[in-house]
Amino acid sequence: MSANPVRMQAMHQVEAYQPPATAFDPAEEPGKIFGENVFSLSVMQRRLPKSVYKSMVSTIEKSTPLDPDVADAVASAMKDWAMEKGATHYAHVFYPLTGLTAEKHDSFLDPVGDGTAFASFSGKTLIQGEPDASSFPNGGLRNTFEARGYTGWDVMSPAYVLENPAGNTLCIPTIFISMTGEALDHKTPVLRSQQAMAVHAKRVLELFGHEDPENVVAYCGPEQEYFLVDSHFLMARPDLLNAGRTLFGAKPPKGQEFDDHYFGAIPERVLGFMMDTERELFKLGIPAKTRHNEVAPGQFEVAPMFERANEASDHQQLLMTTFKSVAKKHGMECLFHEKPFAGVNGSGKHVNFSVGNSELGSLLVPGDTPHDNAQFLVFCAAVIRGVEQYGGLLRASVASAGNDHRLGANEAPPAIISIFLGEQLADVFDQIAKGGATRSKERGTLTIGVDTLPNLTKDPGDRNRTSPFAFTGNRFEFRAPGSNQTVAGPMVVLNTIMAEALDYCATTLEAAVADGTDFDEAVQTLLTTIISDHGSVIFNGDGYSDEWPIEAEQRGLKNLRTTVDALPELITPKAIELFSTYGVFNEREMHSRYEIGLEQYVLSVSVEANLTLEMGTTIILPAAVRYQTELAANVAALKAAGVEADLSTLQTVSAPLAALRAGLAELAGAIAHEHADDALETATVIRDTVLPAMAKVRAAADELEGLVADDLWSLPTYQEMLYVL
Ligand code: ADP
Ligand code: MG
Repeated sequence: MSANPVRMQAMHQVEAYQPPATAFDPAEEPGKIFGENVFSLSVMQRRLPKSVYKSMVSTIEKSTPLDPDVADAVASAMKDWAMEKGATHYAHVFYPLTGLTAEKHDSFLDPVGDGTAFASFSGKTLIQGEPDASSFPNGGLRNTFEARGYTGWDVMSPAYVLENPAGNTLCIPTIFISMTGEALDHKTPVLRSQQAMAVHAKRVLELFGHEDPENVVAYCGPEQEYFLVDSHFLMARPDLLNAGRTLFGAKPPKGQEFDDHYFGAIPERVLGFMMDTERELFKLGIPAKTRHNEVAPGQFEVAPMFERANEASDHQQLLMTTFKSVAKKHGMECLFHEKPFAGVNGSGKHVNFSVGNSELGSLLVPGDTPHDNAQFLVFCAAVIRGVEQYGGLLRASVASAGNDHRLGANEAPPAIISIFLGEQLADVFDQIAKGGATRSKERGTLTIGVDTLPNLTKDPGDRNRTSPFAFTGNRFEFRAPGSNQTVAGPMVVLNTIMAEALDYCATTLEAAVADGTDFDEAVQTLLTTIISDHGSVIFNGDGYSDEWPIEAEQRGLKNLRTTVDALPELITPKAIELFSTYGVFNEREMHSRYEIGLEQYVLSVSVEANLTLEMGTTIILPAAVRYQTELAANVAALKAAGVEADLSTLQTVSAPLAALRAGLAELAGAIAHEHADDALETATVIRDTVLPAMAKVRAAADELEGLVADDLWSLPTYQEMLYVL
């Protein structure tokens, strides 16, 4: 019987790995390359006429409408700058609802009649593009015969030059809309919701005595977790290659129980990769700041500095693309799937969220005595109101087939959306609920017991890793988003629920002031009302405990376990009213997002189901059958030789082999089942029939992995993939 060489070949190639030549130059000034490829404000200042520059600054920083007259001047300067950097093409970059990044490239060169070509780039081409939109998901917003879609320049997100060994491209971040002006992308609603939130944040600030405050924006600092595996393993694993996660694989003998990877020394090969990615990110003006090992073996994290939500969202997409391509250069695959390896921690993308402006900083900074920081308390109470009222929408904003593996498993926050405030703030809001807050628990210092070390200050509250939405000192951290998801979805919901809550606060306070109520008293009443109406969302306990879902249900909090449970939240009358009131989505747009969410779910589960069936049938079953035959031959040979044959090994292998066959048959049946016309019904059936059948196939296959002779097993094992870097 011939052994399968695929896995062994992969191992040999992994062993023979040589790192790529590095771009690192120790003589280079640190920080010199930062923003080198970005058409930033400072580049504009150098290259644009003063009046044009001023107009751009006002649009970017104060959100005043773009003056179309300046576009030609900006386009011309942008083209010259990009061509000096070796760009031959420009691309409108947009973010369709597939969650990926799309680009349409055009050459700067226009042929002139005499056989030569002339480089041109007008204001009009900068501002607007028209890619054929028919192949992007639109959820019923457009018929295919109405293929037109438009891209429009997002002036607030800087253009940049993307390098490629074969030539560079000027990239212009854009929105993507249909002919009717409806959003087909993730960026448009971020901008709309940002604008809505800013209007009402300003009203609240004015009530607190800020005269004509600077435009308030939402800030987003995304922490990105990811796995790295050697590319040779990827090529030997059709599941990783096509679905981004392993559909088979027994838990390794050495799991993550030792906790020896988290914050451990970063392996040299990985560190080389990280440094290379940081270089590329710096050139693009992406402020990558923190890097470390994560909990699982082979898992790591990168966290760029927070930025304005629309910019952070563009940068986050660009970061993922950059990580993928740099990993390839280092002979690795960067996996952003939420759960690439069963039984091993999954990957999230924590979205750190605050609102503020450059003048006032984050409006979610409590100071040392939050109980007398009324402005902070109002903004914080607005978050509480928003999350309690629209927790279901937040859950829906992170719903995907991949993230279903994470949420609710004991490693990621539960699917129940609750808020962790920390000891100090929880105490302050407790006092407010009882009528008014008069004191704040103190911060304190840590006693170390070593005289030479300086005292360390202690945070007023500890962290809570089990909460999906936690206050962390000057921001909230939304921990439910999946590693593969855009941050735009959660940011749109956060901005919009903040718009509603701040509108409510401003309207209440304005009315009280107009009635002659003392302002402090009005604030006190407002806070007490919010906390008694919406305080049920605050939970400072252990979100992993068995008691929490029961208590949450008593409190009336939703527990939307799967994507199929969560997506209908997008089309409730309450959600539609919210989004239309604040001009973020109309009803059609909400329905389109709901439909696309379900479509994507069905699509990704179906791909995985087909792969499971194929790999089970063509890789795992044959290996097991061969081994079974070998054992049977052994039994027969022993009998023929007159030796007593032990049947136990043969029987041990035969049981899971029968289960595998049965599972494959069940899965084939579930896949073949005719789809309903209704998207929700289809998704529900898939969740309830296909996923369980896949699980049965996997359970049998994983058992066989521990029984079948190693030389017959061609899939690289978890142990090999996770521990070789
Ligand atoms: P931790 O591991 O403590 O959660 P990290 O350093 O990994 O922290 O990531 C924290 C993230 O939060 C970074 O992206 C950081 O820029 C971001 N952040 C810090 N302050 C704010 C703020 N006021 N608003 C939004 N994001 C913030
Ligand atoms: Mg964090």
